[in-house]
Amino acid sequence: MIGENGHADENGAAKIGILALQGDVEEHRRILESLGVEAVEVRKVGDLNGISGLIVPGGESTVIGKMMVESGLLDGVRSFFYQGGAVWGTCAGMVLAASATTGERQPLIGLMNALVVRNGFGRQIHSFEADLDVTGFDEPFVGIFIRAPFFEDVGPGVEILSKLGGKVVAARADNALVTAFHPELADDVRFHRYFLEEVCGI
Ligand code: GLN
Repeated sequence: MIGENGHADENGAAKIGILALQGDVEEHRRILESLGVEAVEVRKVGDLNGISGLIVPGGESTVIGKMMVESGLLDGVRSFFYQGGAVWGTCAGMVLAASATTGERQPLIGLMNALVVRNGFGRQIHSFEADLDVTGFDEPFVGIFIRAPFFEDVGPGVEILSKLGGKVVAARADNALVTAFHPELADDVRFHRYFLEEVCGI
């Protein structure tokens, strides 16, 4: 199990990093391990060494972004990505993956040519579930949205994987994947499998 950009430990298991500055980590770890890959917590730039892909989880994007600046991980993750590393941003991670926001300035990693609207479904609607049609999936995926963002506009090269009410809620561009919802909270591993197989190439 070694991807194009992958590295393997002595047992041959691929390693996937989970940015662990703030936000959901354990749920992603559990699913990754159930799919046979090793999960590594990423807290500093050196932790990016030897991983085949990185998940930037949900949480609070302004807080995560600030901590990424302070730890050097904003530049570190950008370099990892531009050297071919796969990155998947969920919810706050999708905000951080965007190249621009309609809201106040905040640090963004900028992995995808897209304009993001934070809390795009309204602050009042704190959370909801929706059946999503996703490109390449035979059955709808139940998206769990928690103060979720959406992409208002995407540039060339961004493949839209799912929309909800006309709003982009999942997209892919080369080695970047974003989901506005929380696949780690759904009882469904298809997005994790998609990330590992299609984006990381494991
Ligand atoms: N609204 C949060 C933000 O903009 C994201 C919420 C989440 O990750 N569940 O950072």
